[in-house]
Amino acid sequence: MTGGPEDAAGRVLRSVGGVYTVEIHGRSVECALRGRLKQEKGIGRVAVGDVVKLEKQEDGSYVVTGLEERSSRLSRRTAHGRREQIIAANVDRLAAVTSVAGPEPLFSLLDRLLVLAESNGITAFLVVNKIDLSSEAEARERFRMYESAGYEVLFTSVKASLEIDSLRDHLAGHITLLVGPSGVGKSSLLNAVQPGLGLRVGEISVALQRGKHTTVSASLHPLDAGGYVVDTPGLGQLRFWEVGKSLLAGCFPEFEAYLDGCRFDDCSHVHEPGCGVISAVSDGEISRERYDSYVRMASEDM
Ligand code: GDP
Ligand code: ZN
Repeated sequence: MTGGPEDAAGRVLRSVGGVYTVEIHGRSVECALRGRLKQEKGIGRVAVGDVVKLEKQEDGSYVVTGLEERSSRLSRRTAHGRREQIIAANVDRLAAVTSVAGPEPLFSLLDRLLVLAESNGITAFLVVNKIDLSSEAEARERFRMYESAGYEVLFTSVKASLEIDSLRDHLAGHITLLVGPSGVGKSSLLNAVQPGLGLRVGEISVALQRGKHTTVSASLHPLDAGGYVVDTPGLGQLRFWEVGKSLLAGCFPEFEAYLDGCRFDDCSHVHEPGCGVISAVSDGEISRERYDSYVRMASEDM
C-alpha cells in the first residue's frame, strides 16, 4: 500500500509523547510513526520542522512513513553525553529578541544565541524591542557592535507600532527560531505580526511545561505570510550549547578578518602573544564586550 493517491507530504509542527502533529494541505493531523522510524535515536529521529511522508490508513488516519532530507538542523549535545539531540529541523533564521529596557538587555545571552545560530549555520538577526522606552539614537549606539559584526538589527516597538511590518517581512517564507528572555515582548511582537499568534505560542509553551512526563520540545507556528515561527520553551535561559573550542572563534564573524594576524595557527585568542584578534580589540576594531563574551565562553567547561 504505497504511493497511493491518498499519500502526502507534510510538515511536523510538534510532537508530544510519540504523537506527531503534521500540517498537510493547511490543516493539522495527528500521526504516529511507522515502526522503523520509531527506532531512530538522536539526529536520525523525526523532528519538529521536518517534512515527512505520510500514508493514509484504511481508517482515514495517517502514519509517518519517511523523512525528507533536511536543509539544516538545530541541535545540542545532551548535558553529559556526546549524543547530538535535534531540537528542530530546517530552521533557517534565528531572531534574538531583547528589549532596550524593562528588562535591560542581557548582552552575554544575546552573544550565546548568536553563537548558537552561527554554530548551526543559521542566519541570525536581532530584534531590539520597546524602543519607545529609550531614545532611538541611544539604542542604536548600544547595539552598534552587532551591526559592526554584520548582524541586522531591527528596532521595534509594539506599543508605538514601529518596524512591525519589517519584522513580518523578515519572518515571511522562513522558519525562524524566535528566542530571548521572558518579558522582552516576544508574544506581543508575534501578536502584532499576526493577531493571535503570540497567544498560541504562549499556550503551547505553558501546556508543554505542565505535563510532567512530556519532554518540553519545540513547536512550529504557521505564518499567514508563509513560513513558521519556532517556539522552544526554556531556551531563553539556555545553558551552554556545546561548540568545540576550536570552532568558537568562527562563531564571532567580526573576528574573521583578523585571524590571519595571529602568530600561532592554533591561537585561542585569549592569552597568546601576537594575536590578531586581541590587537583588533585594543585598536577598537572589535568590540570589547563581544570579545569578553568570547573569552567567557572559551573558558567554560565544554
Ligand atoms: P515575552 O515574555 O517575551 O513574550 O513578553 P510579552 O510579550 O509577554 O511582554 C512583556 C511585557 O512587555 C508586557 O507587559 C507587554 O505589554 C510589554 N511590552 C511588549 N512590547 C512592548 C513595547 O514595544 N513597548 C513597551 N513599552 N512595552 C512592551
Ligand atoms: Zn589569536
